[in-house]
Amino acid sequence: MKKKVLILGAGITGLSAAWKLSQDEYDVTIIEKDTAVGGLAKTIKFKDSFVDIGPHSFFSEDREIYDTVKSLFKDEPEEIPKVKRSVKMFFMNYYVDYPLSAKSILFQMGPIIPIKSFLSFLKSFVKSFFTKKIDVKLLSIEEWAISNFGFFLYKNFFKPYTEQFWKIETSKLSHRVIPASKKLDFAKTLKHLFFNKYLEISKREPGSLNLVQRESLPTFYPKKGFGQIAEKIKSKVEKNNTKIDLNTEVKKVILKQDGRFQVDTDTKSYEADYLISTLPLDYLVKNFEPLNKNKDLVKSSEKLNYLSLKMLYLIVKKKNILGCQYCYFVNRPYNRVSNLNLFSDIISKEGTSALSVEISCHKNSSTWMSKDQDIFEECIKNLVNDKILERNDILDWKVLDVPNVYPIYKINYENDLKNLEKEFFKTKNFYSIGRLGQFFYGDIDQMIRLGFNVVKKILKT
Ligand SMILES: Cc1cc2nc3c(=O)[nH]c(=O)nc-3n(C[C@H](O)[C@H](O)[C@H](O)COP(=O)(O)OP(=O)(O)OC[C@H]3O[C@@H](n4cnc5c(N)ncnc54)[C@H](O)[C@@H]3O)c2cc1C
Repeated sequence: MKKKVLILGAGITGLSAAWKLSQDEYDVTIIEKDTAVGGLAKTIKFKDSFVDIGPHSFFSEDREIYDTVKSLFKDEPEEIPKVKRSVKMFFMNYYVDYPLSAKSILFQMGPIIPIKSFLSFLKSFVKSFFTKKIDVKLLSIEEWAISNFGFFLYKNFFKPYTEQFWKIETSKLSHRVIPASKKLDFAKTLKHLFFNKYLEISKREPGSLNLVQRESLPTFYPKKGFGQIAEKIKSKVEKNNTKIDLNTEVKKVILKQDGRFQVDTDTKSYEADYLISTLPLDYLVKNFEPLNKNKDLVKSSEKLNYLSLKMLYLIVKKKNILGCQYCYFVNRPYNRVSNLNLFSDIISKEGTSALSVEISCHKNSSTWMSKDQDIFEECIKNLVNDKILERNDILDWKVLDVPNVYPIYKINYENDLKNLEKEFFKTKNFYSIGRLGQFFYGDIDQMIRLGFNVVKKILKT
C-alpha cells in the first residue's frame, strides 16, 4: 500500500514538497485553511485588478530551481517575462538607491550627509580596534549597525527604519534581521562601488549569494500575477493525484503511539505515515500532542513570533506613480509602497494603477485592531503630503490582514529554535519546513529548495 503523506499549508513550500512527492509512489494530501493556494505568494482578485501580497518577483542562482520554475511556463514562455527591478528608498527627504550603499550616501544625498556619515563611520572603525568583539549570536542590530556604518547612519537610518518595521527596539533585535548583514557594511559597499565587483560569497543558507548579489540577479514576473506560479504547481500536483483540501484549518496534531500521525481539522480528521508542516511554530507546538505537555518546549516556541502585515491596496486613475517598482519609507506609517503595474501592465484596467502599501504590525497591537477606514486615512494623509498621490486619484481601496509574515529574529532566537530541536524537529517522520516552519526569512526559490530537499529525506527512510 502507498505510504500516506500529509502536508500542512499550500504555500510555495508545501506545494513544492507535494510536487516532488507526487512524482513518486506516495498518497499525498495538502490541507490549507485559505480559499486558494499560494500562501504569501498568492495573487488576489480585487475588482478588475490582480494584486499580490506586496511586490514579488522570481529570481534564483539555484540552477535546478530556476529551470524548474521556468519549465512551468514552457508552452508559453512569454507569460513570465524578465522584468527590470527598480527599487528606491525615501530617506531624509531624498530618493536613494536600495539597498543603502556607499553610492547612495556619497552621491545621492547632497554634500553634508556624506561627510557626517563618513566621519562617523571612521570613528567607529578606529574604535573597533580597541573594543571587545561580541559573540555574533548575541549581536544586536544596534551594535552591528553602529560598528559597520557609524553612529550617524545608525541614528538616522537603521534605528528609525528598523523600529518602524519590526516595532521592537534595535537593541532587542538580532543583527540577522538584515539578511547577510555581515557582508553589507559601509567599507565593503565602498569597495563594491569603486572596484565594481560583487561582494564576497555569503554563507546565507540555503542560497549562496548575499543580499546585494541576489538583488542583481535577473528577475521574472508572471504576467497575470505572481500567484500563477503556485497555481501552475497546483495543476501539476493535482494531475498526479495529490488532493488539496482548501478551506480546512488544522486544529490539532497527534503523534500516535505507533508513530503515525492524526491531524484534526475544523471539518474532519486525517491519518498519515509522514507529516510535513509549513505552519507557524508557535501555533503548531501548542497544538501538537503529546509534545505540548513539555512546558519548556511550548515556552520556547511561544518566543518565536511572526510579524504581520496590514496591506492597503489602492486602485488609482493615474500612471507612472513612484517612478520605480517599489519604494521603502522611513518615518512613515508604512514601510513600502509598490506600483504593481511596473511588474505587469495588465494586472489593472487600462488607465489605472494598482498600488500596495505595507504596514507591519504585531498581532493584537492597536494597528492590527484598527478599522480599515483608519488605516486608509492614515496612509492617504502621508501619501498626499509626500505628493505621491492626490485623494481624488483614488478609484477604489481595500485593506487585507495578513498574519504570520516575517519571523522575528529577537536576540537569542537561535537558542529558542535550538530548544525545539530535540523533541520537536527530531520527531520521526515529521518535518517542519519553510518560512514559518523553519523560522527562516527566505525567498521563493529557497522555499522551493526546502520543499524539494525534504522529499529527498523522506525517500531515504
Ligand atoms: C511582502 C513580501 C514580498 C516578498 N517578495 C518576494 C520576492 O520578490 N521574491 C521571492 O522570491 N520571495 C518573496 N517573498 C517571500 C515569499 O513570499 C515567501 O518566502 C514564501 O511565499 C513562503 O512560503 P511558505 O510556503 O514557506 O509559507 P506561506 O506562504 O506562509 O505558507 C503557509 C501556508 O500555511 C497555511 N496555514 C497556516 N495556518 C494553517 C492552519 N492552521 N491550517 C491550514 N493551513 C494553514 C497558510 O494559509 C499558508 O497558505 C516575499 C514575502 C513577502 C511577505
